[in-house]
Amino acid sequence: MRRLGSLLVALGLIVATAVPSAAGQEGPAGHGVGTDVRVDGTTVTVIVHLSVLVRRGLVDASVRQYLLDQLDAAADRWNRGLARRPFFDCLTLRVEVDASLVHPVDRDFDAPGHVITTYGSSHVGTMADGRGLPSVWDPEGQSDPSADYAGPFEHRVEGYWPPWLFDDTAALAHEMGHLFGLGDDYVRDEDGNVSPLEGREGTLMDSGDAVDPALVDRLGASLLEAGYGDQLPRCEVWTGTLDVRAEFGSPYECEVSWRGEVTLTVEPDGTTSGSGRVAADGSTCPAGASTGSIVVTGTKTASSFELTYARGPDHGCGPVFCLGGGTASIPLSGPTVAEGSTPNDLGAGTRFVSTWSLRCTGAGCPAS
Ligand SMILES: [Zn+2]
Repeated sequence: MRRLGSLLVALGLIVATAVPSAAGQEGPAGHGVGTDVRVDGTTVTVIVHLSVLVRRGLVDASVRQYLLDQLDAAADRWNRGLARRPFFDCLTLRVEVDASLVHPVDRDFDAPGHVITTYGSSHVGTMADGRGLPSVWDPEGQSDPSADYAGPFEHRVEGYWPPWLFDDTAALAHEMGHLFGLGDDYVRDEDGNVSPLEGREGTLMDSGDAVDPALVDRLGASLLEAGYGDQLPRCEVWTGTLDVRAEFGSPYECEVSWRGEVTLTVEPDGTTSGSGRVAADGSTCPAGASTGSIVVTGTKTASSFELTYARGPDHGCGPVFCLGGGTASIPLSGPTVAEGSTPNDLGAGTRFVSTWSLRCTGAGCPAS
């Protein structure tokens, strides 16, 4: 149903004649007027405030609910993709729509939402079947519809979203993307034909429905450009080595050493998670030893990491001798250094000693 071709693709940010903003005094960068940002722990919610102008008498209560539900469904399209890729190492970006349906006669020009008109004719033309092309435009905007920009976080923009758009949540989500600063992933030539930008075919900001990693990163970059950088929590990323030495058997049978690398992400509240990969680095055990991923969970306190490690899902247990996992308490020897060994006696003669050497790397590290 959606594959009506490029004509269905909504337009980008077209430059209208410069007119003063209806909002008058604009908030400073970082204080949204139309699109706002809320930070809860490591969840960063982009809130799109919309004043959707609908003609009185044309929509009954069930249609109003339908329009609101479709806006939520369009936000969900973003959120399914955004949930799959962290920003700033550990932040989850998500989109929320705060829409009010307003009759034109009731329009409050000081309402802090982007103003979306659902009737009248399109500024940018019609499709072959006569339906109006949706658009978003910014009187203070820019000339390149494919460029990202922070305008919608700083001032109100306007849109024309005809009723059919609300039946197509991918197209609706595309238009919504313009309200948090994303430009089109396609270009339009002089004849009106559109073609995707290189490498961008099939994304939500093209005519497809994919929220790929680049779109997540671009949304994050728009937040930074809009001045929210100071409000976004930063997570620490620690990388280093893990050595595990295991003895098996009572009486003693054999021993295995594993060696590998780990990467841990520490959220601002200390919650720690990560993964790594280990391989056998010497074994006297007749059946050999396992190789594969490990997963790590735990917390970072003021003085140490308190960790639990275990085999990852792809880490099959060999015939006999496999990494079993354990716990570790790794003291901090500085703001960005943690090193230490922890023995775990698993019983029946099985003993593991894990030795960790970790360094904080990257932008979120504490000052050393
Ligand atoms: Zn567009």
